[in-house]
Amino acid sequence: MPERASGDSVLQLLAPLSGWVLPLDEVPDAVFAGGMAGDGVAIDPTGHALHSPCDGVIVLMGAARHALTLRTRGGDLLLHVGIDTVAMGGAGFTLRVRDGEHVRAGTLLLEFDLDEIVRRAPSAITPVLLVGARAGQVSRCQHARRVAVGDPLFEIVPDGAKATAAQATAAYASPREAIVSSAFRIPFDHGLHARPAARVAAALAGIDAQVKFSVHGREADARSPVAMMALGVQRGDIVTADARGGGASAALTALEGVLERVAETTPAAGMALSPARAHTVITPPAKAPSPGARLDAVIASRGLAAGAAAPLVDVDPPIGAAHGDASAERARLSAAIDAVGARLRAMAASGQAARRGVLEAHEALLADPGLRLRALGQLEGGASAGAAWRKSLRNAAASLAALSDPRMAERRADLLDIERQVLRVLNGDTFEAAIELPARAIVLASELLPSQLLSLDATRLAGVCMVDGGATSHVAILAASIGLPMLVAAGPAVLSIAAGTPLILDAEHGQLLVAPSADEQARISAVIEQRARQRAEDHSAAGQPALMRDGARVHVYCNLGAVAESAPAIVSGAEGCGLLRTEFLFLDRAQAPDEGEQLAVYQAIATALGGRTLTIRTLDAGGDKPLAYLPQAHEENPALGMRGLRTSLARPELLDAQLRAIVRVAPPGQCRVLLPMVTELDEVRTVRKHLEAISAALAVPAPKLGIMIETPASALLADQLCAEVDFLSIGSNDLSQYTLAMDRLHPTLAARLDAVHPSVLRLIAGAVQAALARGIEVGVCGALATDAAAVPLLIGLGVRELSVVPAQIPRIKSLVRTLASAEGAQLAQRALELPSASAVRALAREWSEHHA
Ligand code: PEP
Ligand code: MG
Repeated sequence: MPERASGDSVLQLLAPLSGWVLPLDEVPDAVFAGGMAGDGVAIDPTGHALHSPCDGVIVLMGAARHALTLRTRGGDLLLHVGIDTVAMGGAGFTLRVRDGEHVRAGTLLLEFDLDEIVRRAPSAITPVLLVGARAGQVSRCQHARRVAVGDPLFEIVPDGAKATAAQATAAYASPREAIVSSAFRIPFDHGLHARPAARVAAALAGIDAQVKFSVHGREADARSPVAMMALGVQRGDIVTADARGGGASAALTALEGVLERVAETTPAAGMALSPARAHTVITPPAKAPSPGARLDAVIASRGLAAGAAAPLVDVDPPIGAAHGDASAERARLSAAIDAVGARLRAMAASGQAARRGVLEAHEALLADPGLRLRALGQLEGGASAGAAWRKSLRNAAASLAALSDPRMAERRADLLDIERQVLRVLNGDTFEAAIELPARAIVLASELLPSQLLSLDATRLAGVCMVDGGATSHVAILAASIGLPMLVAAGPAVLSIAAGTPLILDAEHGQLLVAPSADEQARISAVIEQRARQRAEDHSAAGQPALMRDGARVHVYCNLGAVAESAPAIVSGAEGCGLLRTEFLFLDRAQAPDEGEQLAVYQAIATALGGRTLTIRTLDAGGDKPLAYLPQAHEENPALGMRGLRTSLARPELLDAQLRAIVRVAPPGQCRVLLPMVTELDEVRTVRKHLEAISAALAVPAPKLGIMIETPASALLADQLCAEVDFLSIGSNDLSQYTLAMDRLHPTLAARLDAVHPSVLRLIAGAVQAALARGIEVGVCGALATDAAAVPLLIGLGVRELSVVPAQIPRIKSLVRTLASAEGAQLAQRALELPSASAVRALAREWSEHHA
């Protein structure tokens, strides 16, 4: 169905639903009826499918699926199926589009169970509204008649768009204007969803102030219901409202009528910052934790640190006013982007792989033509270079933040990081302004960005604890790569800890201990010193084999995801590579790598390994590892969908290119092929046929073929699978996810997703026995192999090959040298009989204390 336009600029909207059209004032809800959420019409539906009323881009509104926003050239349209349907939590709704998807008029967006809505919600009446900052007026509404999908509904006639943009720019363009801030608790049952957001915006109507909400490291204009909904704010969350302009105080008072005011914000007694960086200082309203308090958090980088609190105030550089006309601003923006790009390139040229990877990823983001183009478009509308850049980045960040994939949402922090770096250049700040730290600083931050971590003085930094953040963010990867303990998602109380407060950051048990007793501090400091000594010893023995006390040898291999990691892994004592995650080699690519490119990368790694075994896993794409060059249809549950070997078998041309590249690596026999996500024998037989045909055609012996044991199906069929494969590699990460039925990316289940759960250990035991009975090699390459508490258990189950994170090889080898086969077997037998992962952890702890 084509988009119909009645002129160059009038946007004709088509009925997205079949049903009866009503004026808004007949909607049984005061917010919609009063026009607070926006202007438009409502439809009492007779169908069960929502279609797009015009061309646009989808902006999803969180997990509940009952509403979505369409970004159109006439402004944002809210399509809200039913009234109070947020309470249905998404049940009865099936989304047919993804966030960020470009849709045409008539595209099917959403299907819903009308009976379910009628049963569970106050009404099925569906408002179709123009919301937020508008590019036009609603006109020619077709009320009081029946419509079919695609019939004309109303028009958006452009007006005042420029005025709106100019007002926004003017408000942002005076960064030195006083800001008053206050914290508010969200009192609404289902968070800041459509109607509450509309009430907030309505409360501010007519007040001369610009009001911004900040929460979870994100920001939104408090006059834009759509932007507020995209914050994903839940009941009880605390948002900070920053208001500027003549009516700033009145605006905060008006918000009190809708939200619960918690506290005024005052400048924090924080660590010293260079004046150019200290823009807005926000003290959270949370009560300061009392001495001895323990704050629970998620571990982002394991380790232990003792030191003093160094609160890092949030730093948001001002956007600055325009220096000239659009062409002058264009030149300024381009120069600033180029300067940041050059600096990132220079920084990436040295240093270790993880740091380089993050910096290169930032450089690639910065080079994204879409970001630049959107910013240039803003300049044409009269915005300053800073305002245009921020707007472009924030729009992109908002789209990412709204995605249900947490890994994508974490990339939002990367966008924020490059936004700030470019703004600093535009503001004339020097790059070198390092953040000063006290000795043994434990930095407390709302959300530390990668560039901020890199600018901290590593010699004075002991650990980091954040209010928000994710365990797989780039800043977490950077921290892990330098052995810096880091906790994330510790909650807002973190920022109310006074500078200098003694802290213990326990990133082994996921806790921040506030002002612990002197004895506790001394005990932890002694543990840290002893570990430093042990580390030095481990490193000096890293090149030696790992022989247990009874002389049995355990091979310790490394897991790799980049060419640059190979040589340092050998230095750390790797005896080969037990897992090369090939999906990580060609991330951020629009095109699949061809055979030649793959061969070059595999060969470089094989050469760096100096003849040692290189286990190359075929693409494990899909699920939590989406690849741009392998776009996949939307899946309700990607972890249970087309991922791993299933994706390769569905695209045999990609599988063959990868197998050919592996077979061509010299010398023949150095590489092994490893298949991810196997569930049945036929999958293996199919790949075996491809591999043998390719090897025969290239006249080289076929490489060994092995499988990952990472589904309960493959673990339970291990005896049959072992008859057809050359080796097994146990992927404990996925094996625990699928056995325990807990998403490995789930933020609240993370702590319970523990691969030492006896059910997982039983599956591992069965697979190991099957392999040993057949005399084929079996190793563990999931995170369990790097987990010191789990290694004695794995050894006890008969595992003699561990593939671990390269930096941990010296430690794991040292640990293995303290073990003996028989005592490990006894320990493992006891663990298999326990009822829970926590019971196994307790046993392992007791055993290692006794053992030590
Ligand atoms: C695993 O699942 O344990 C594994 C090693 O594979 P990945 O973590 O790459 O999914
Ligand atoms: Mg896996």
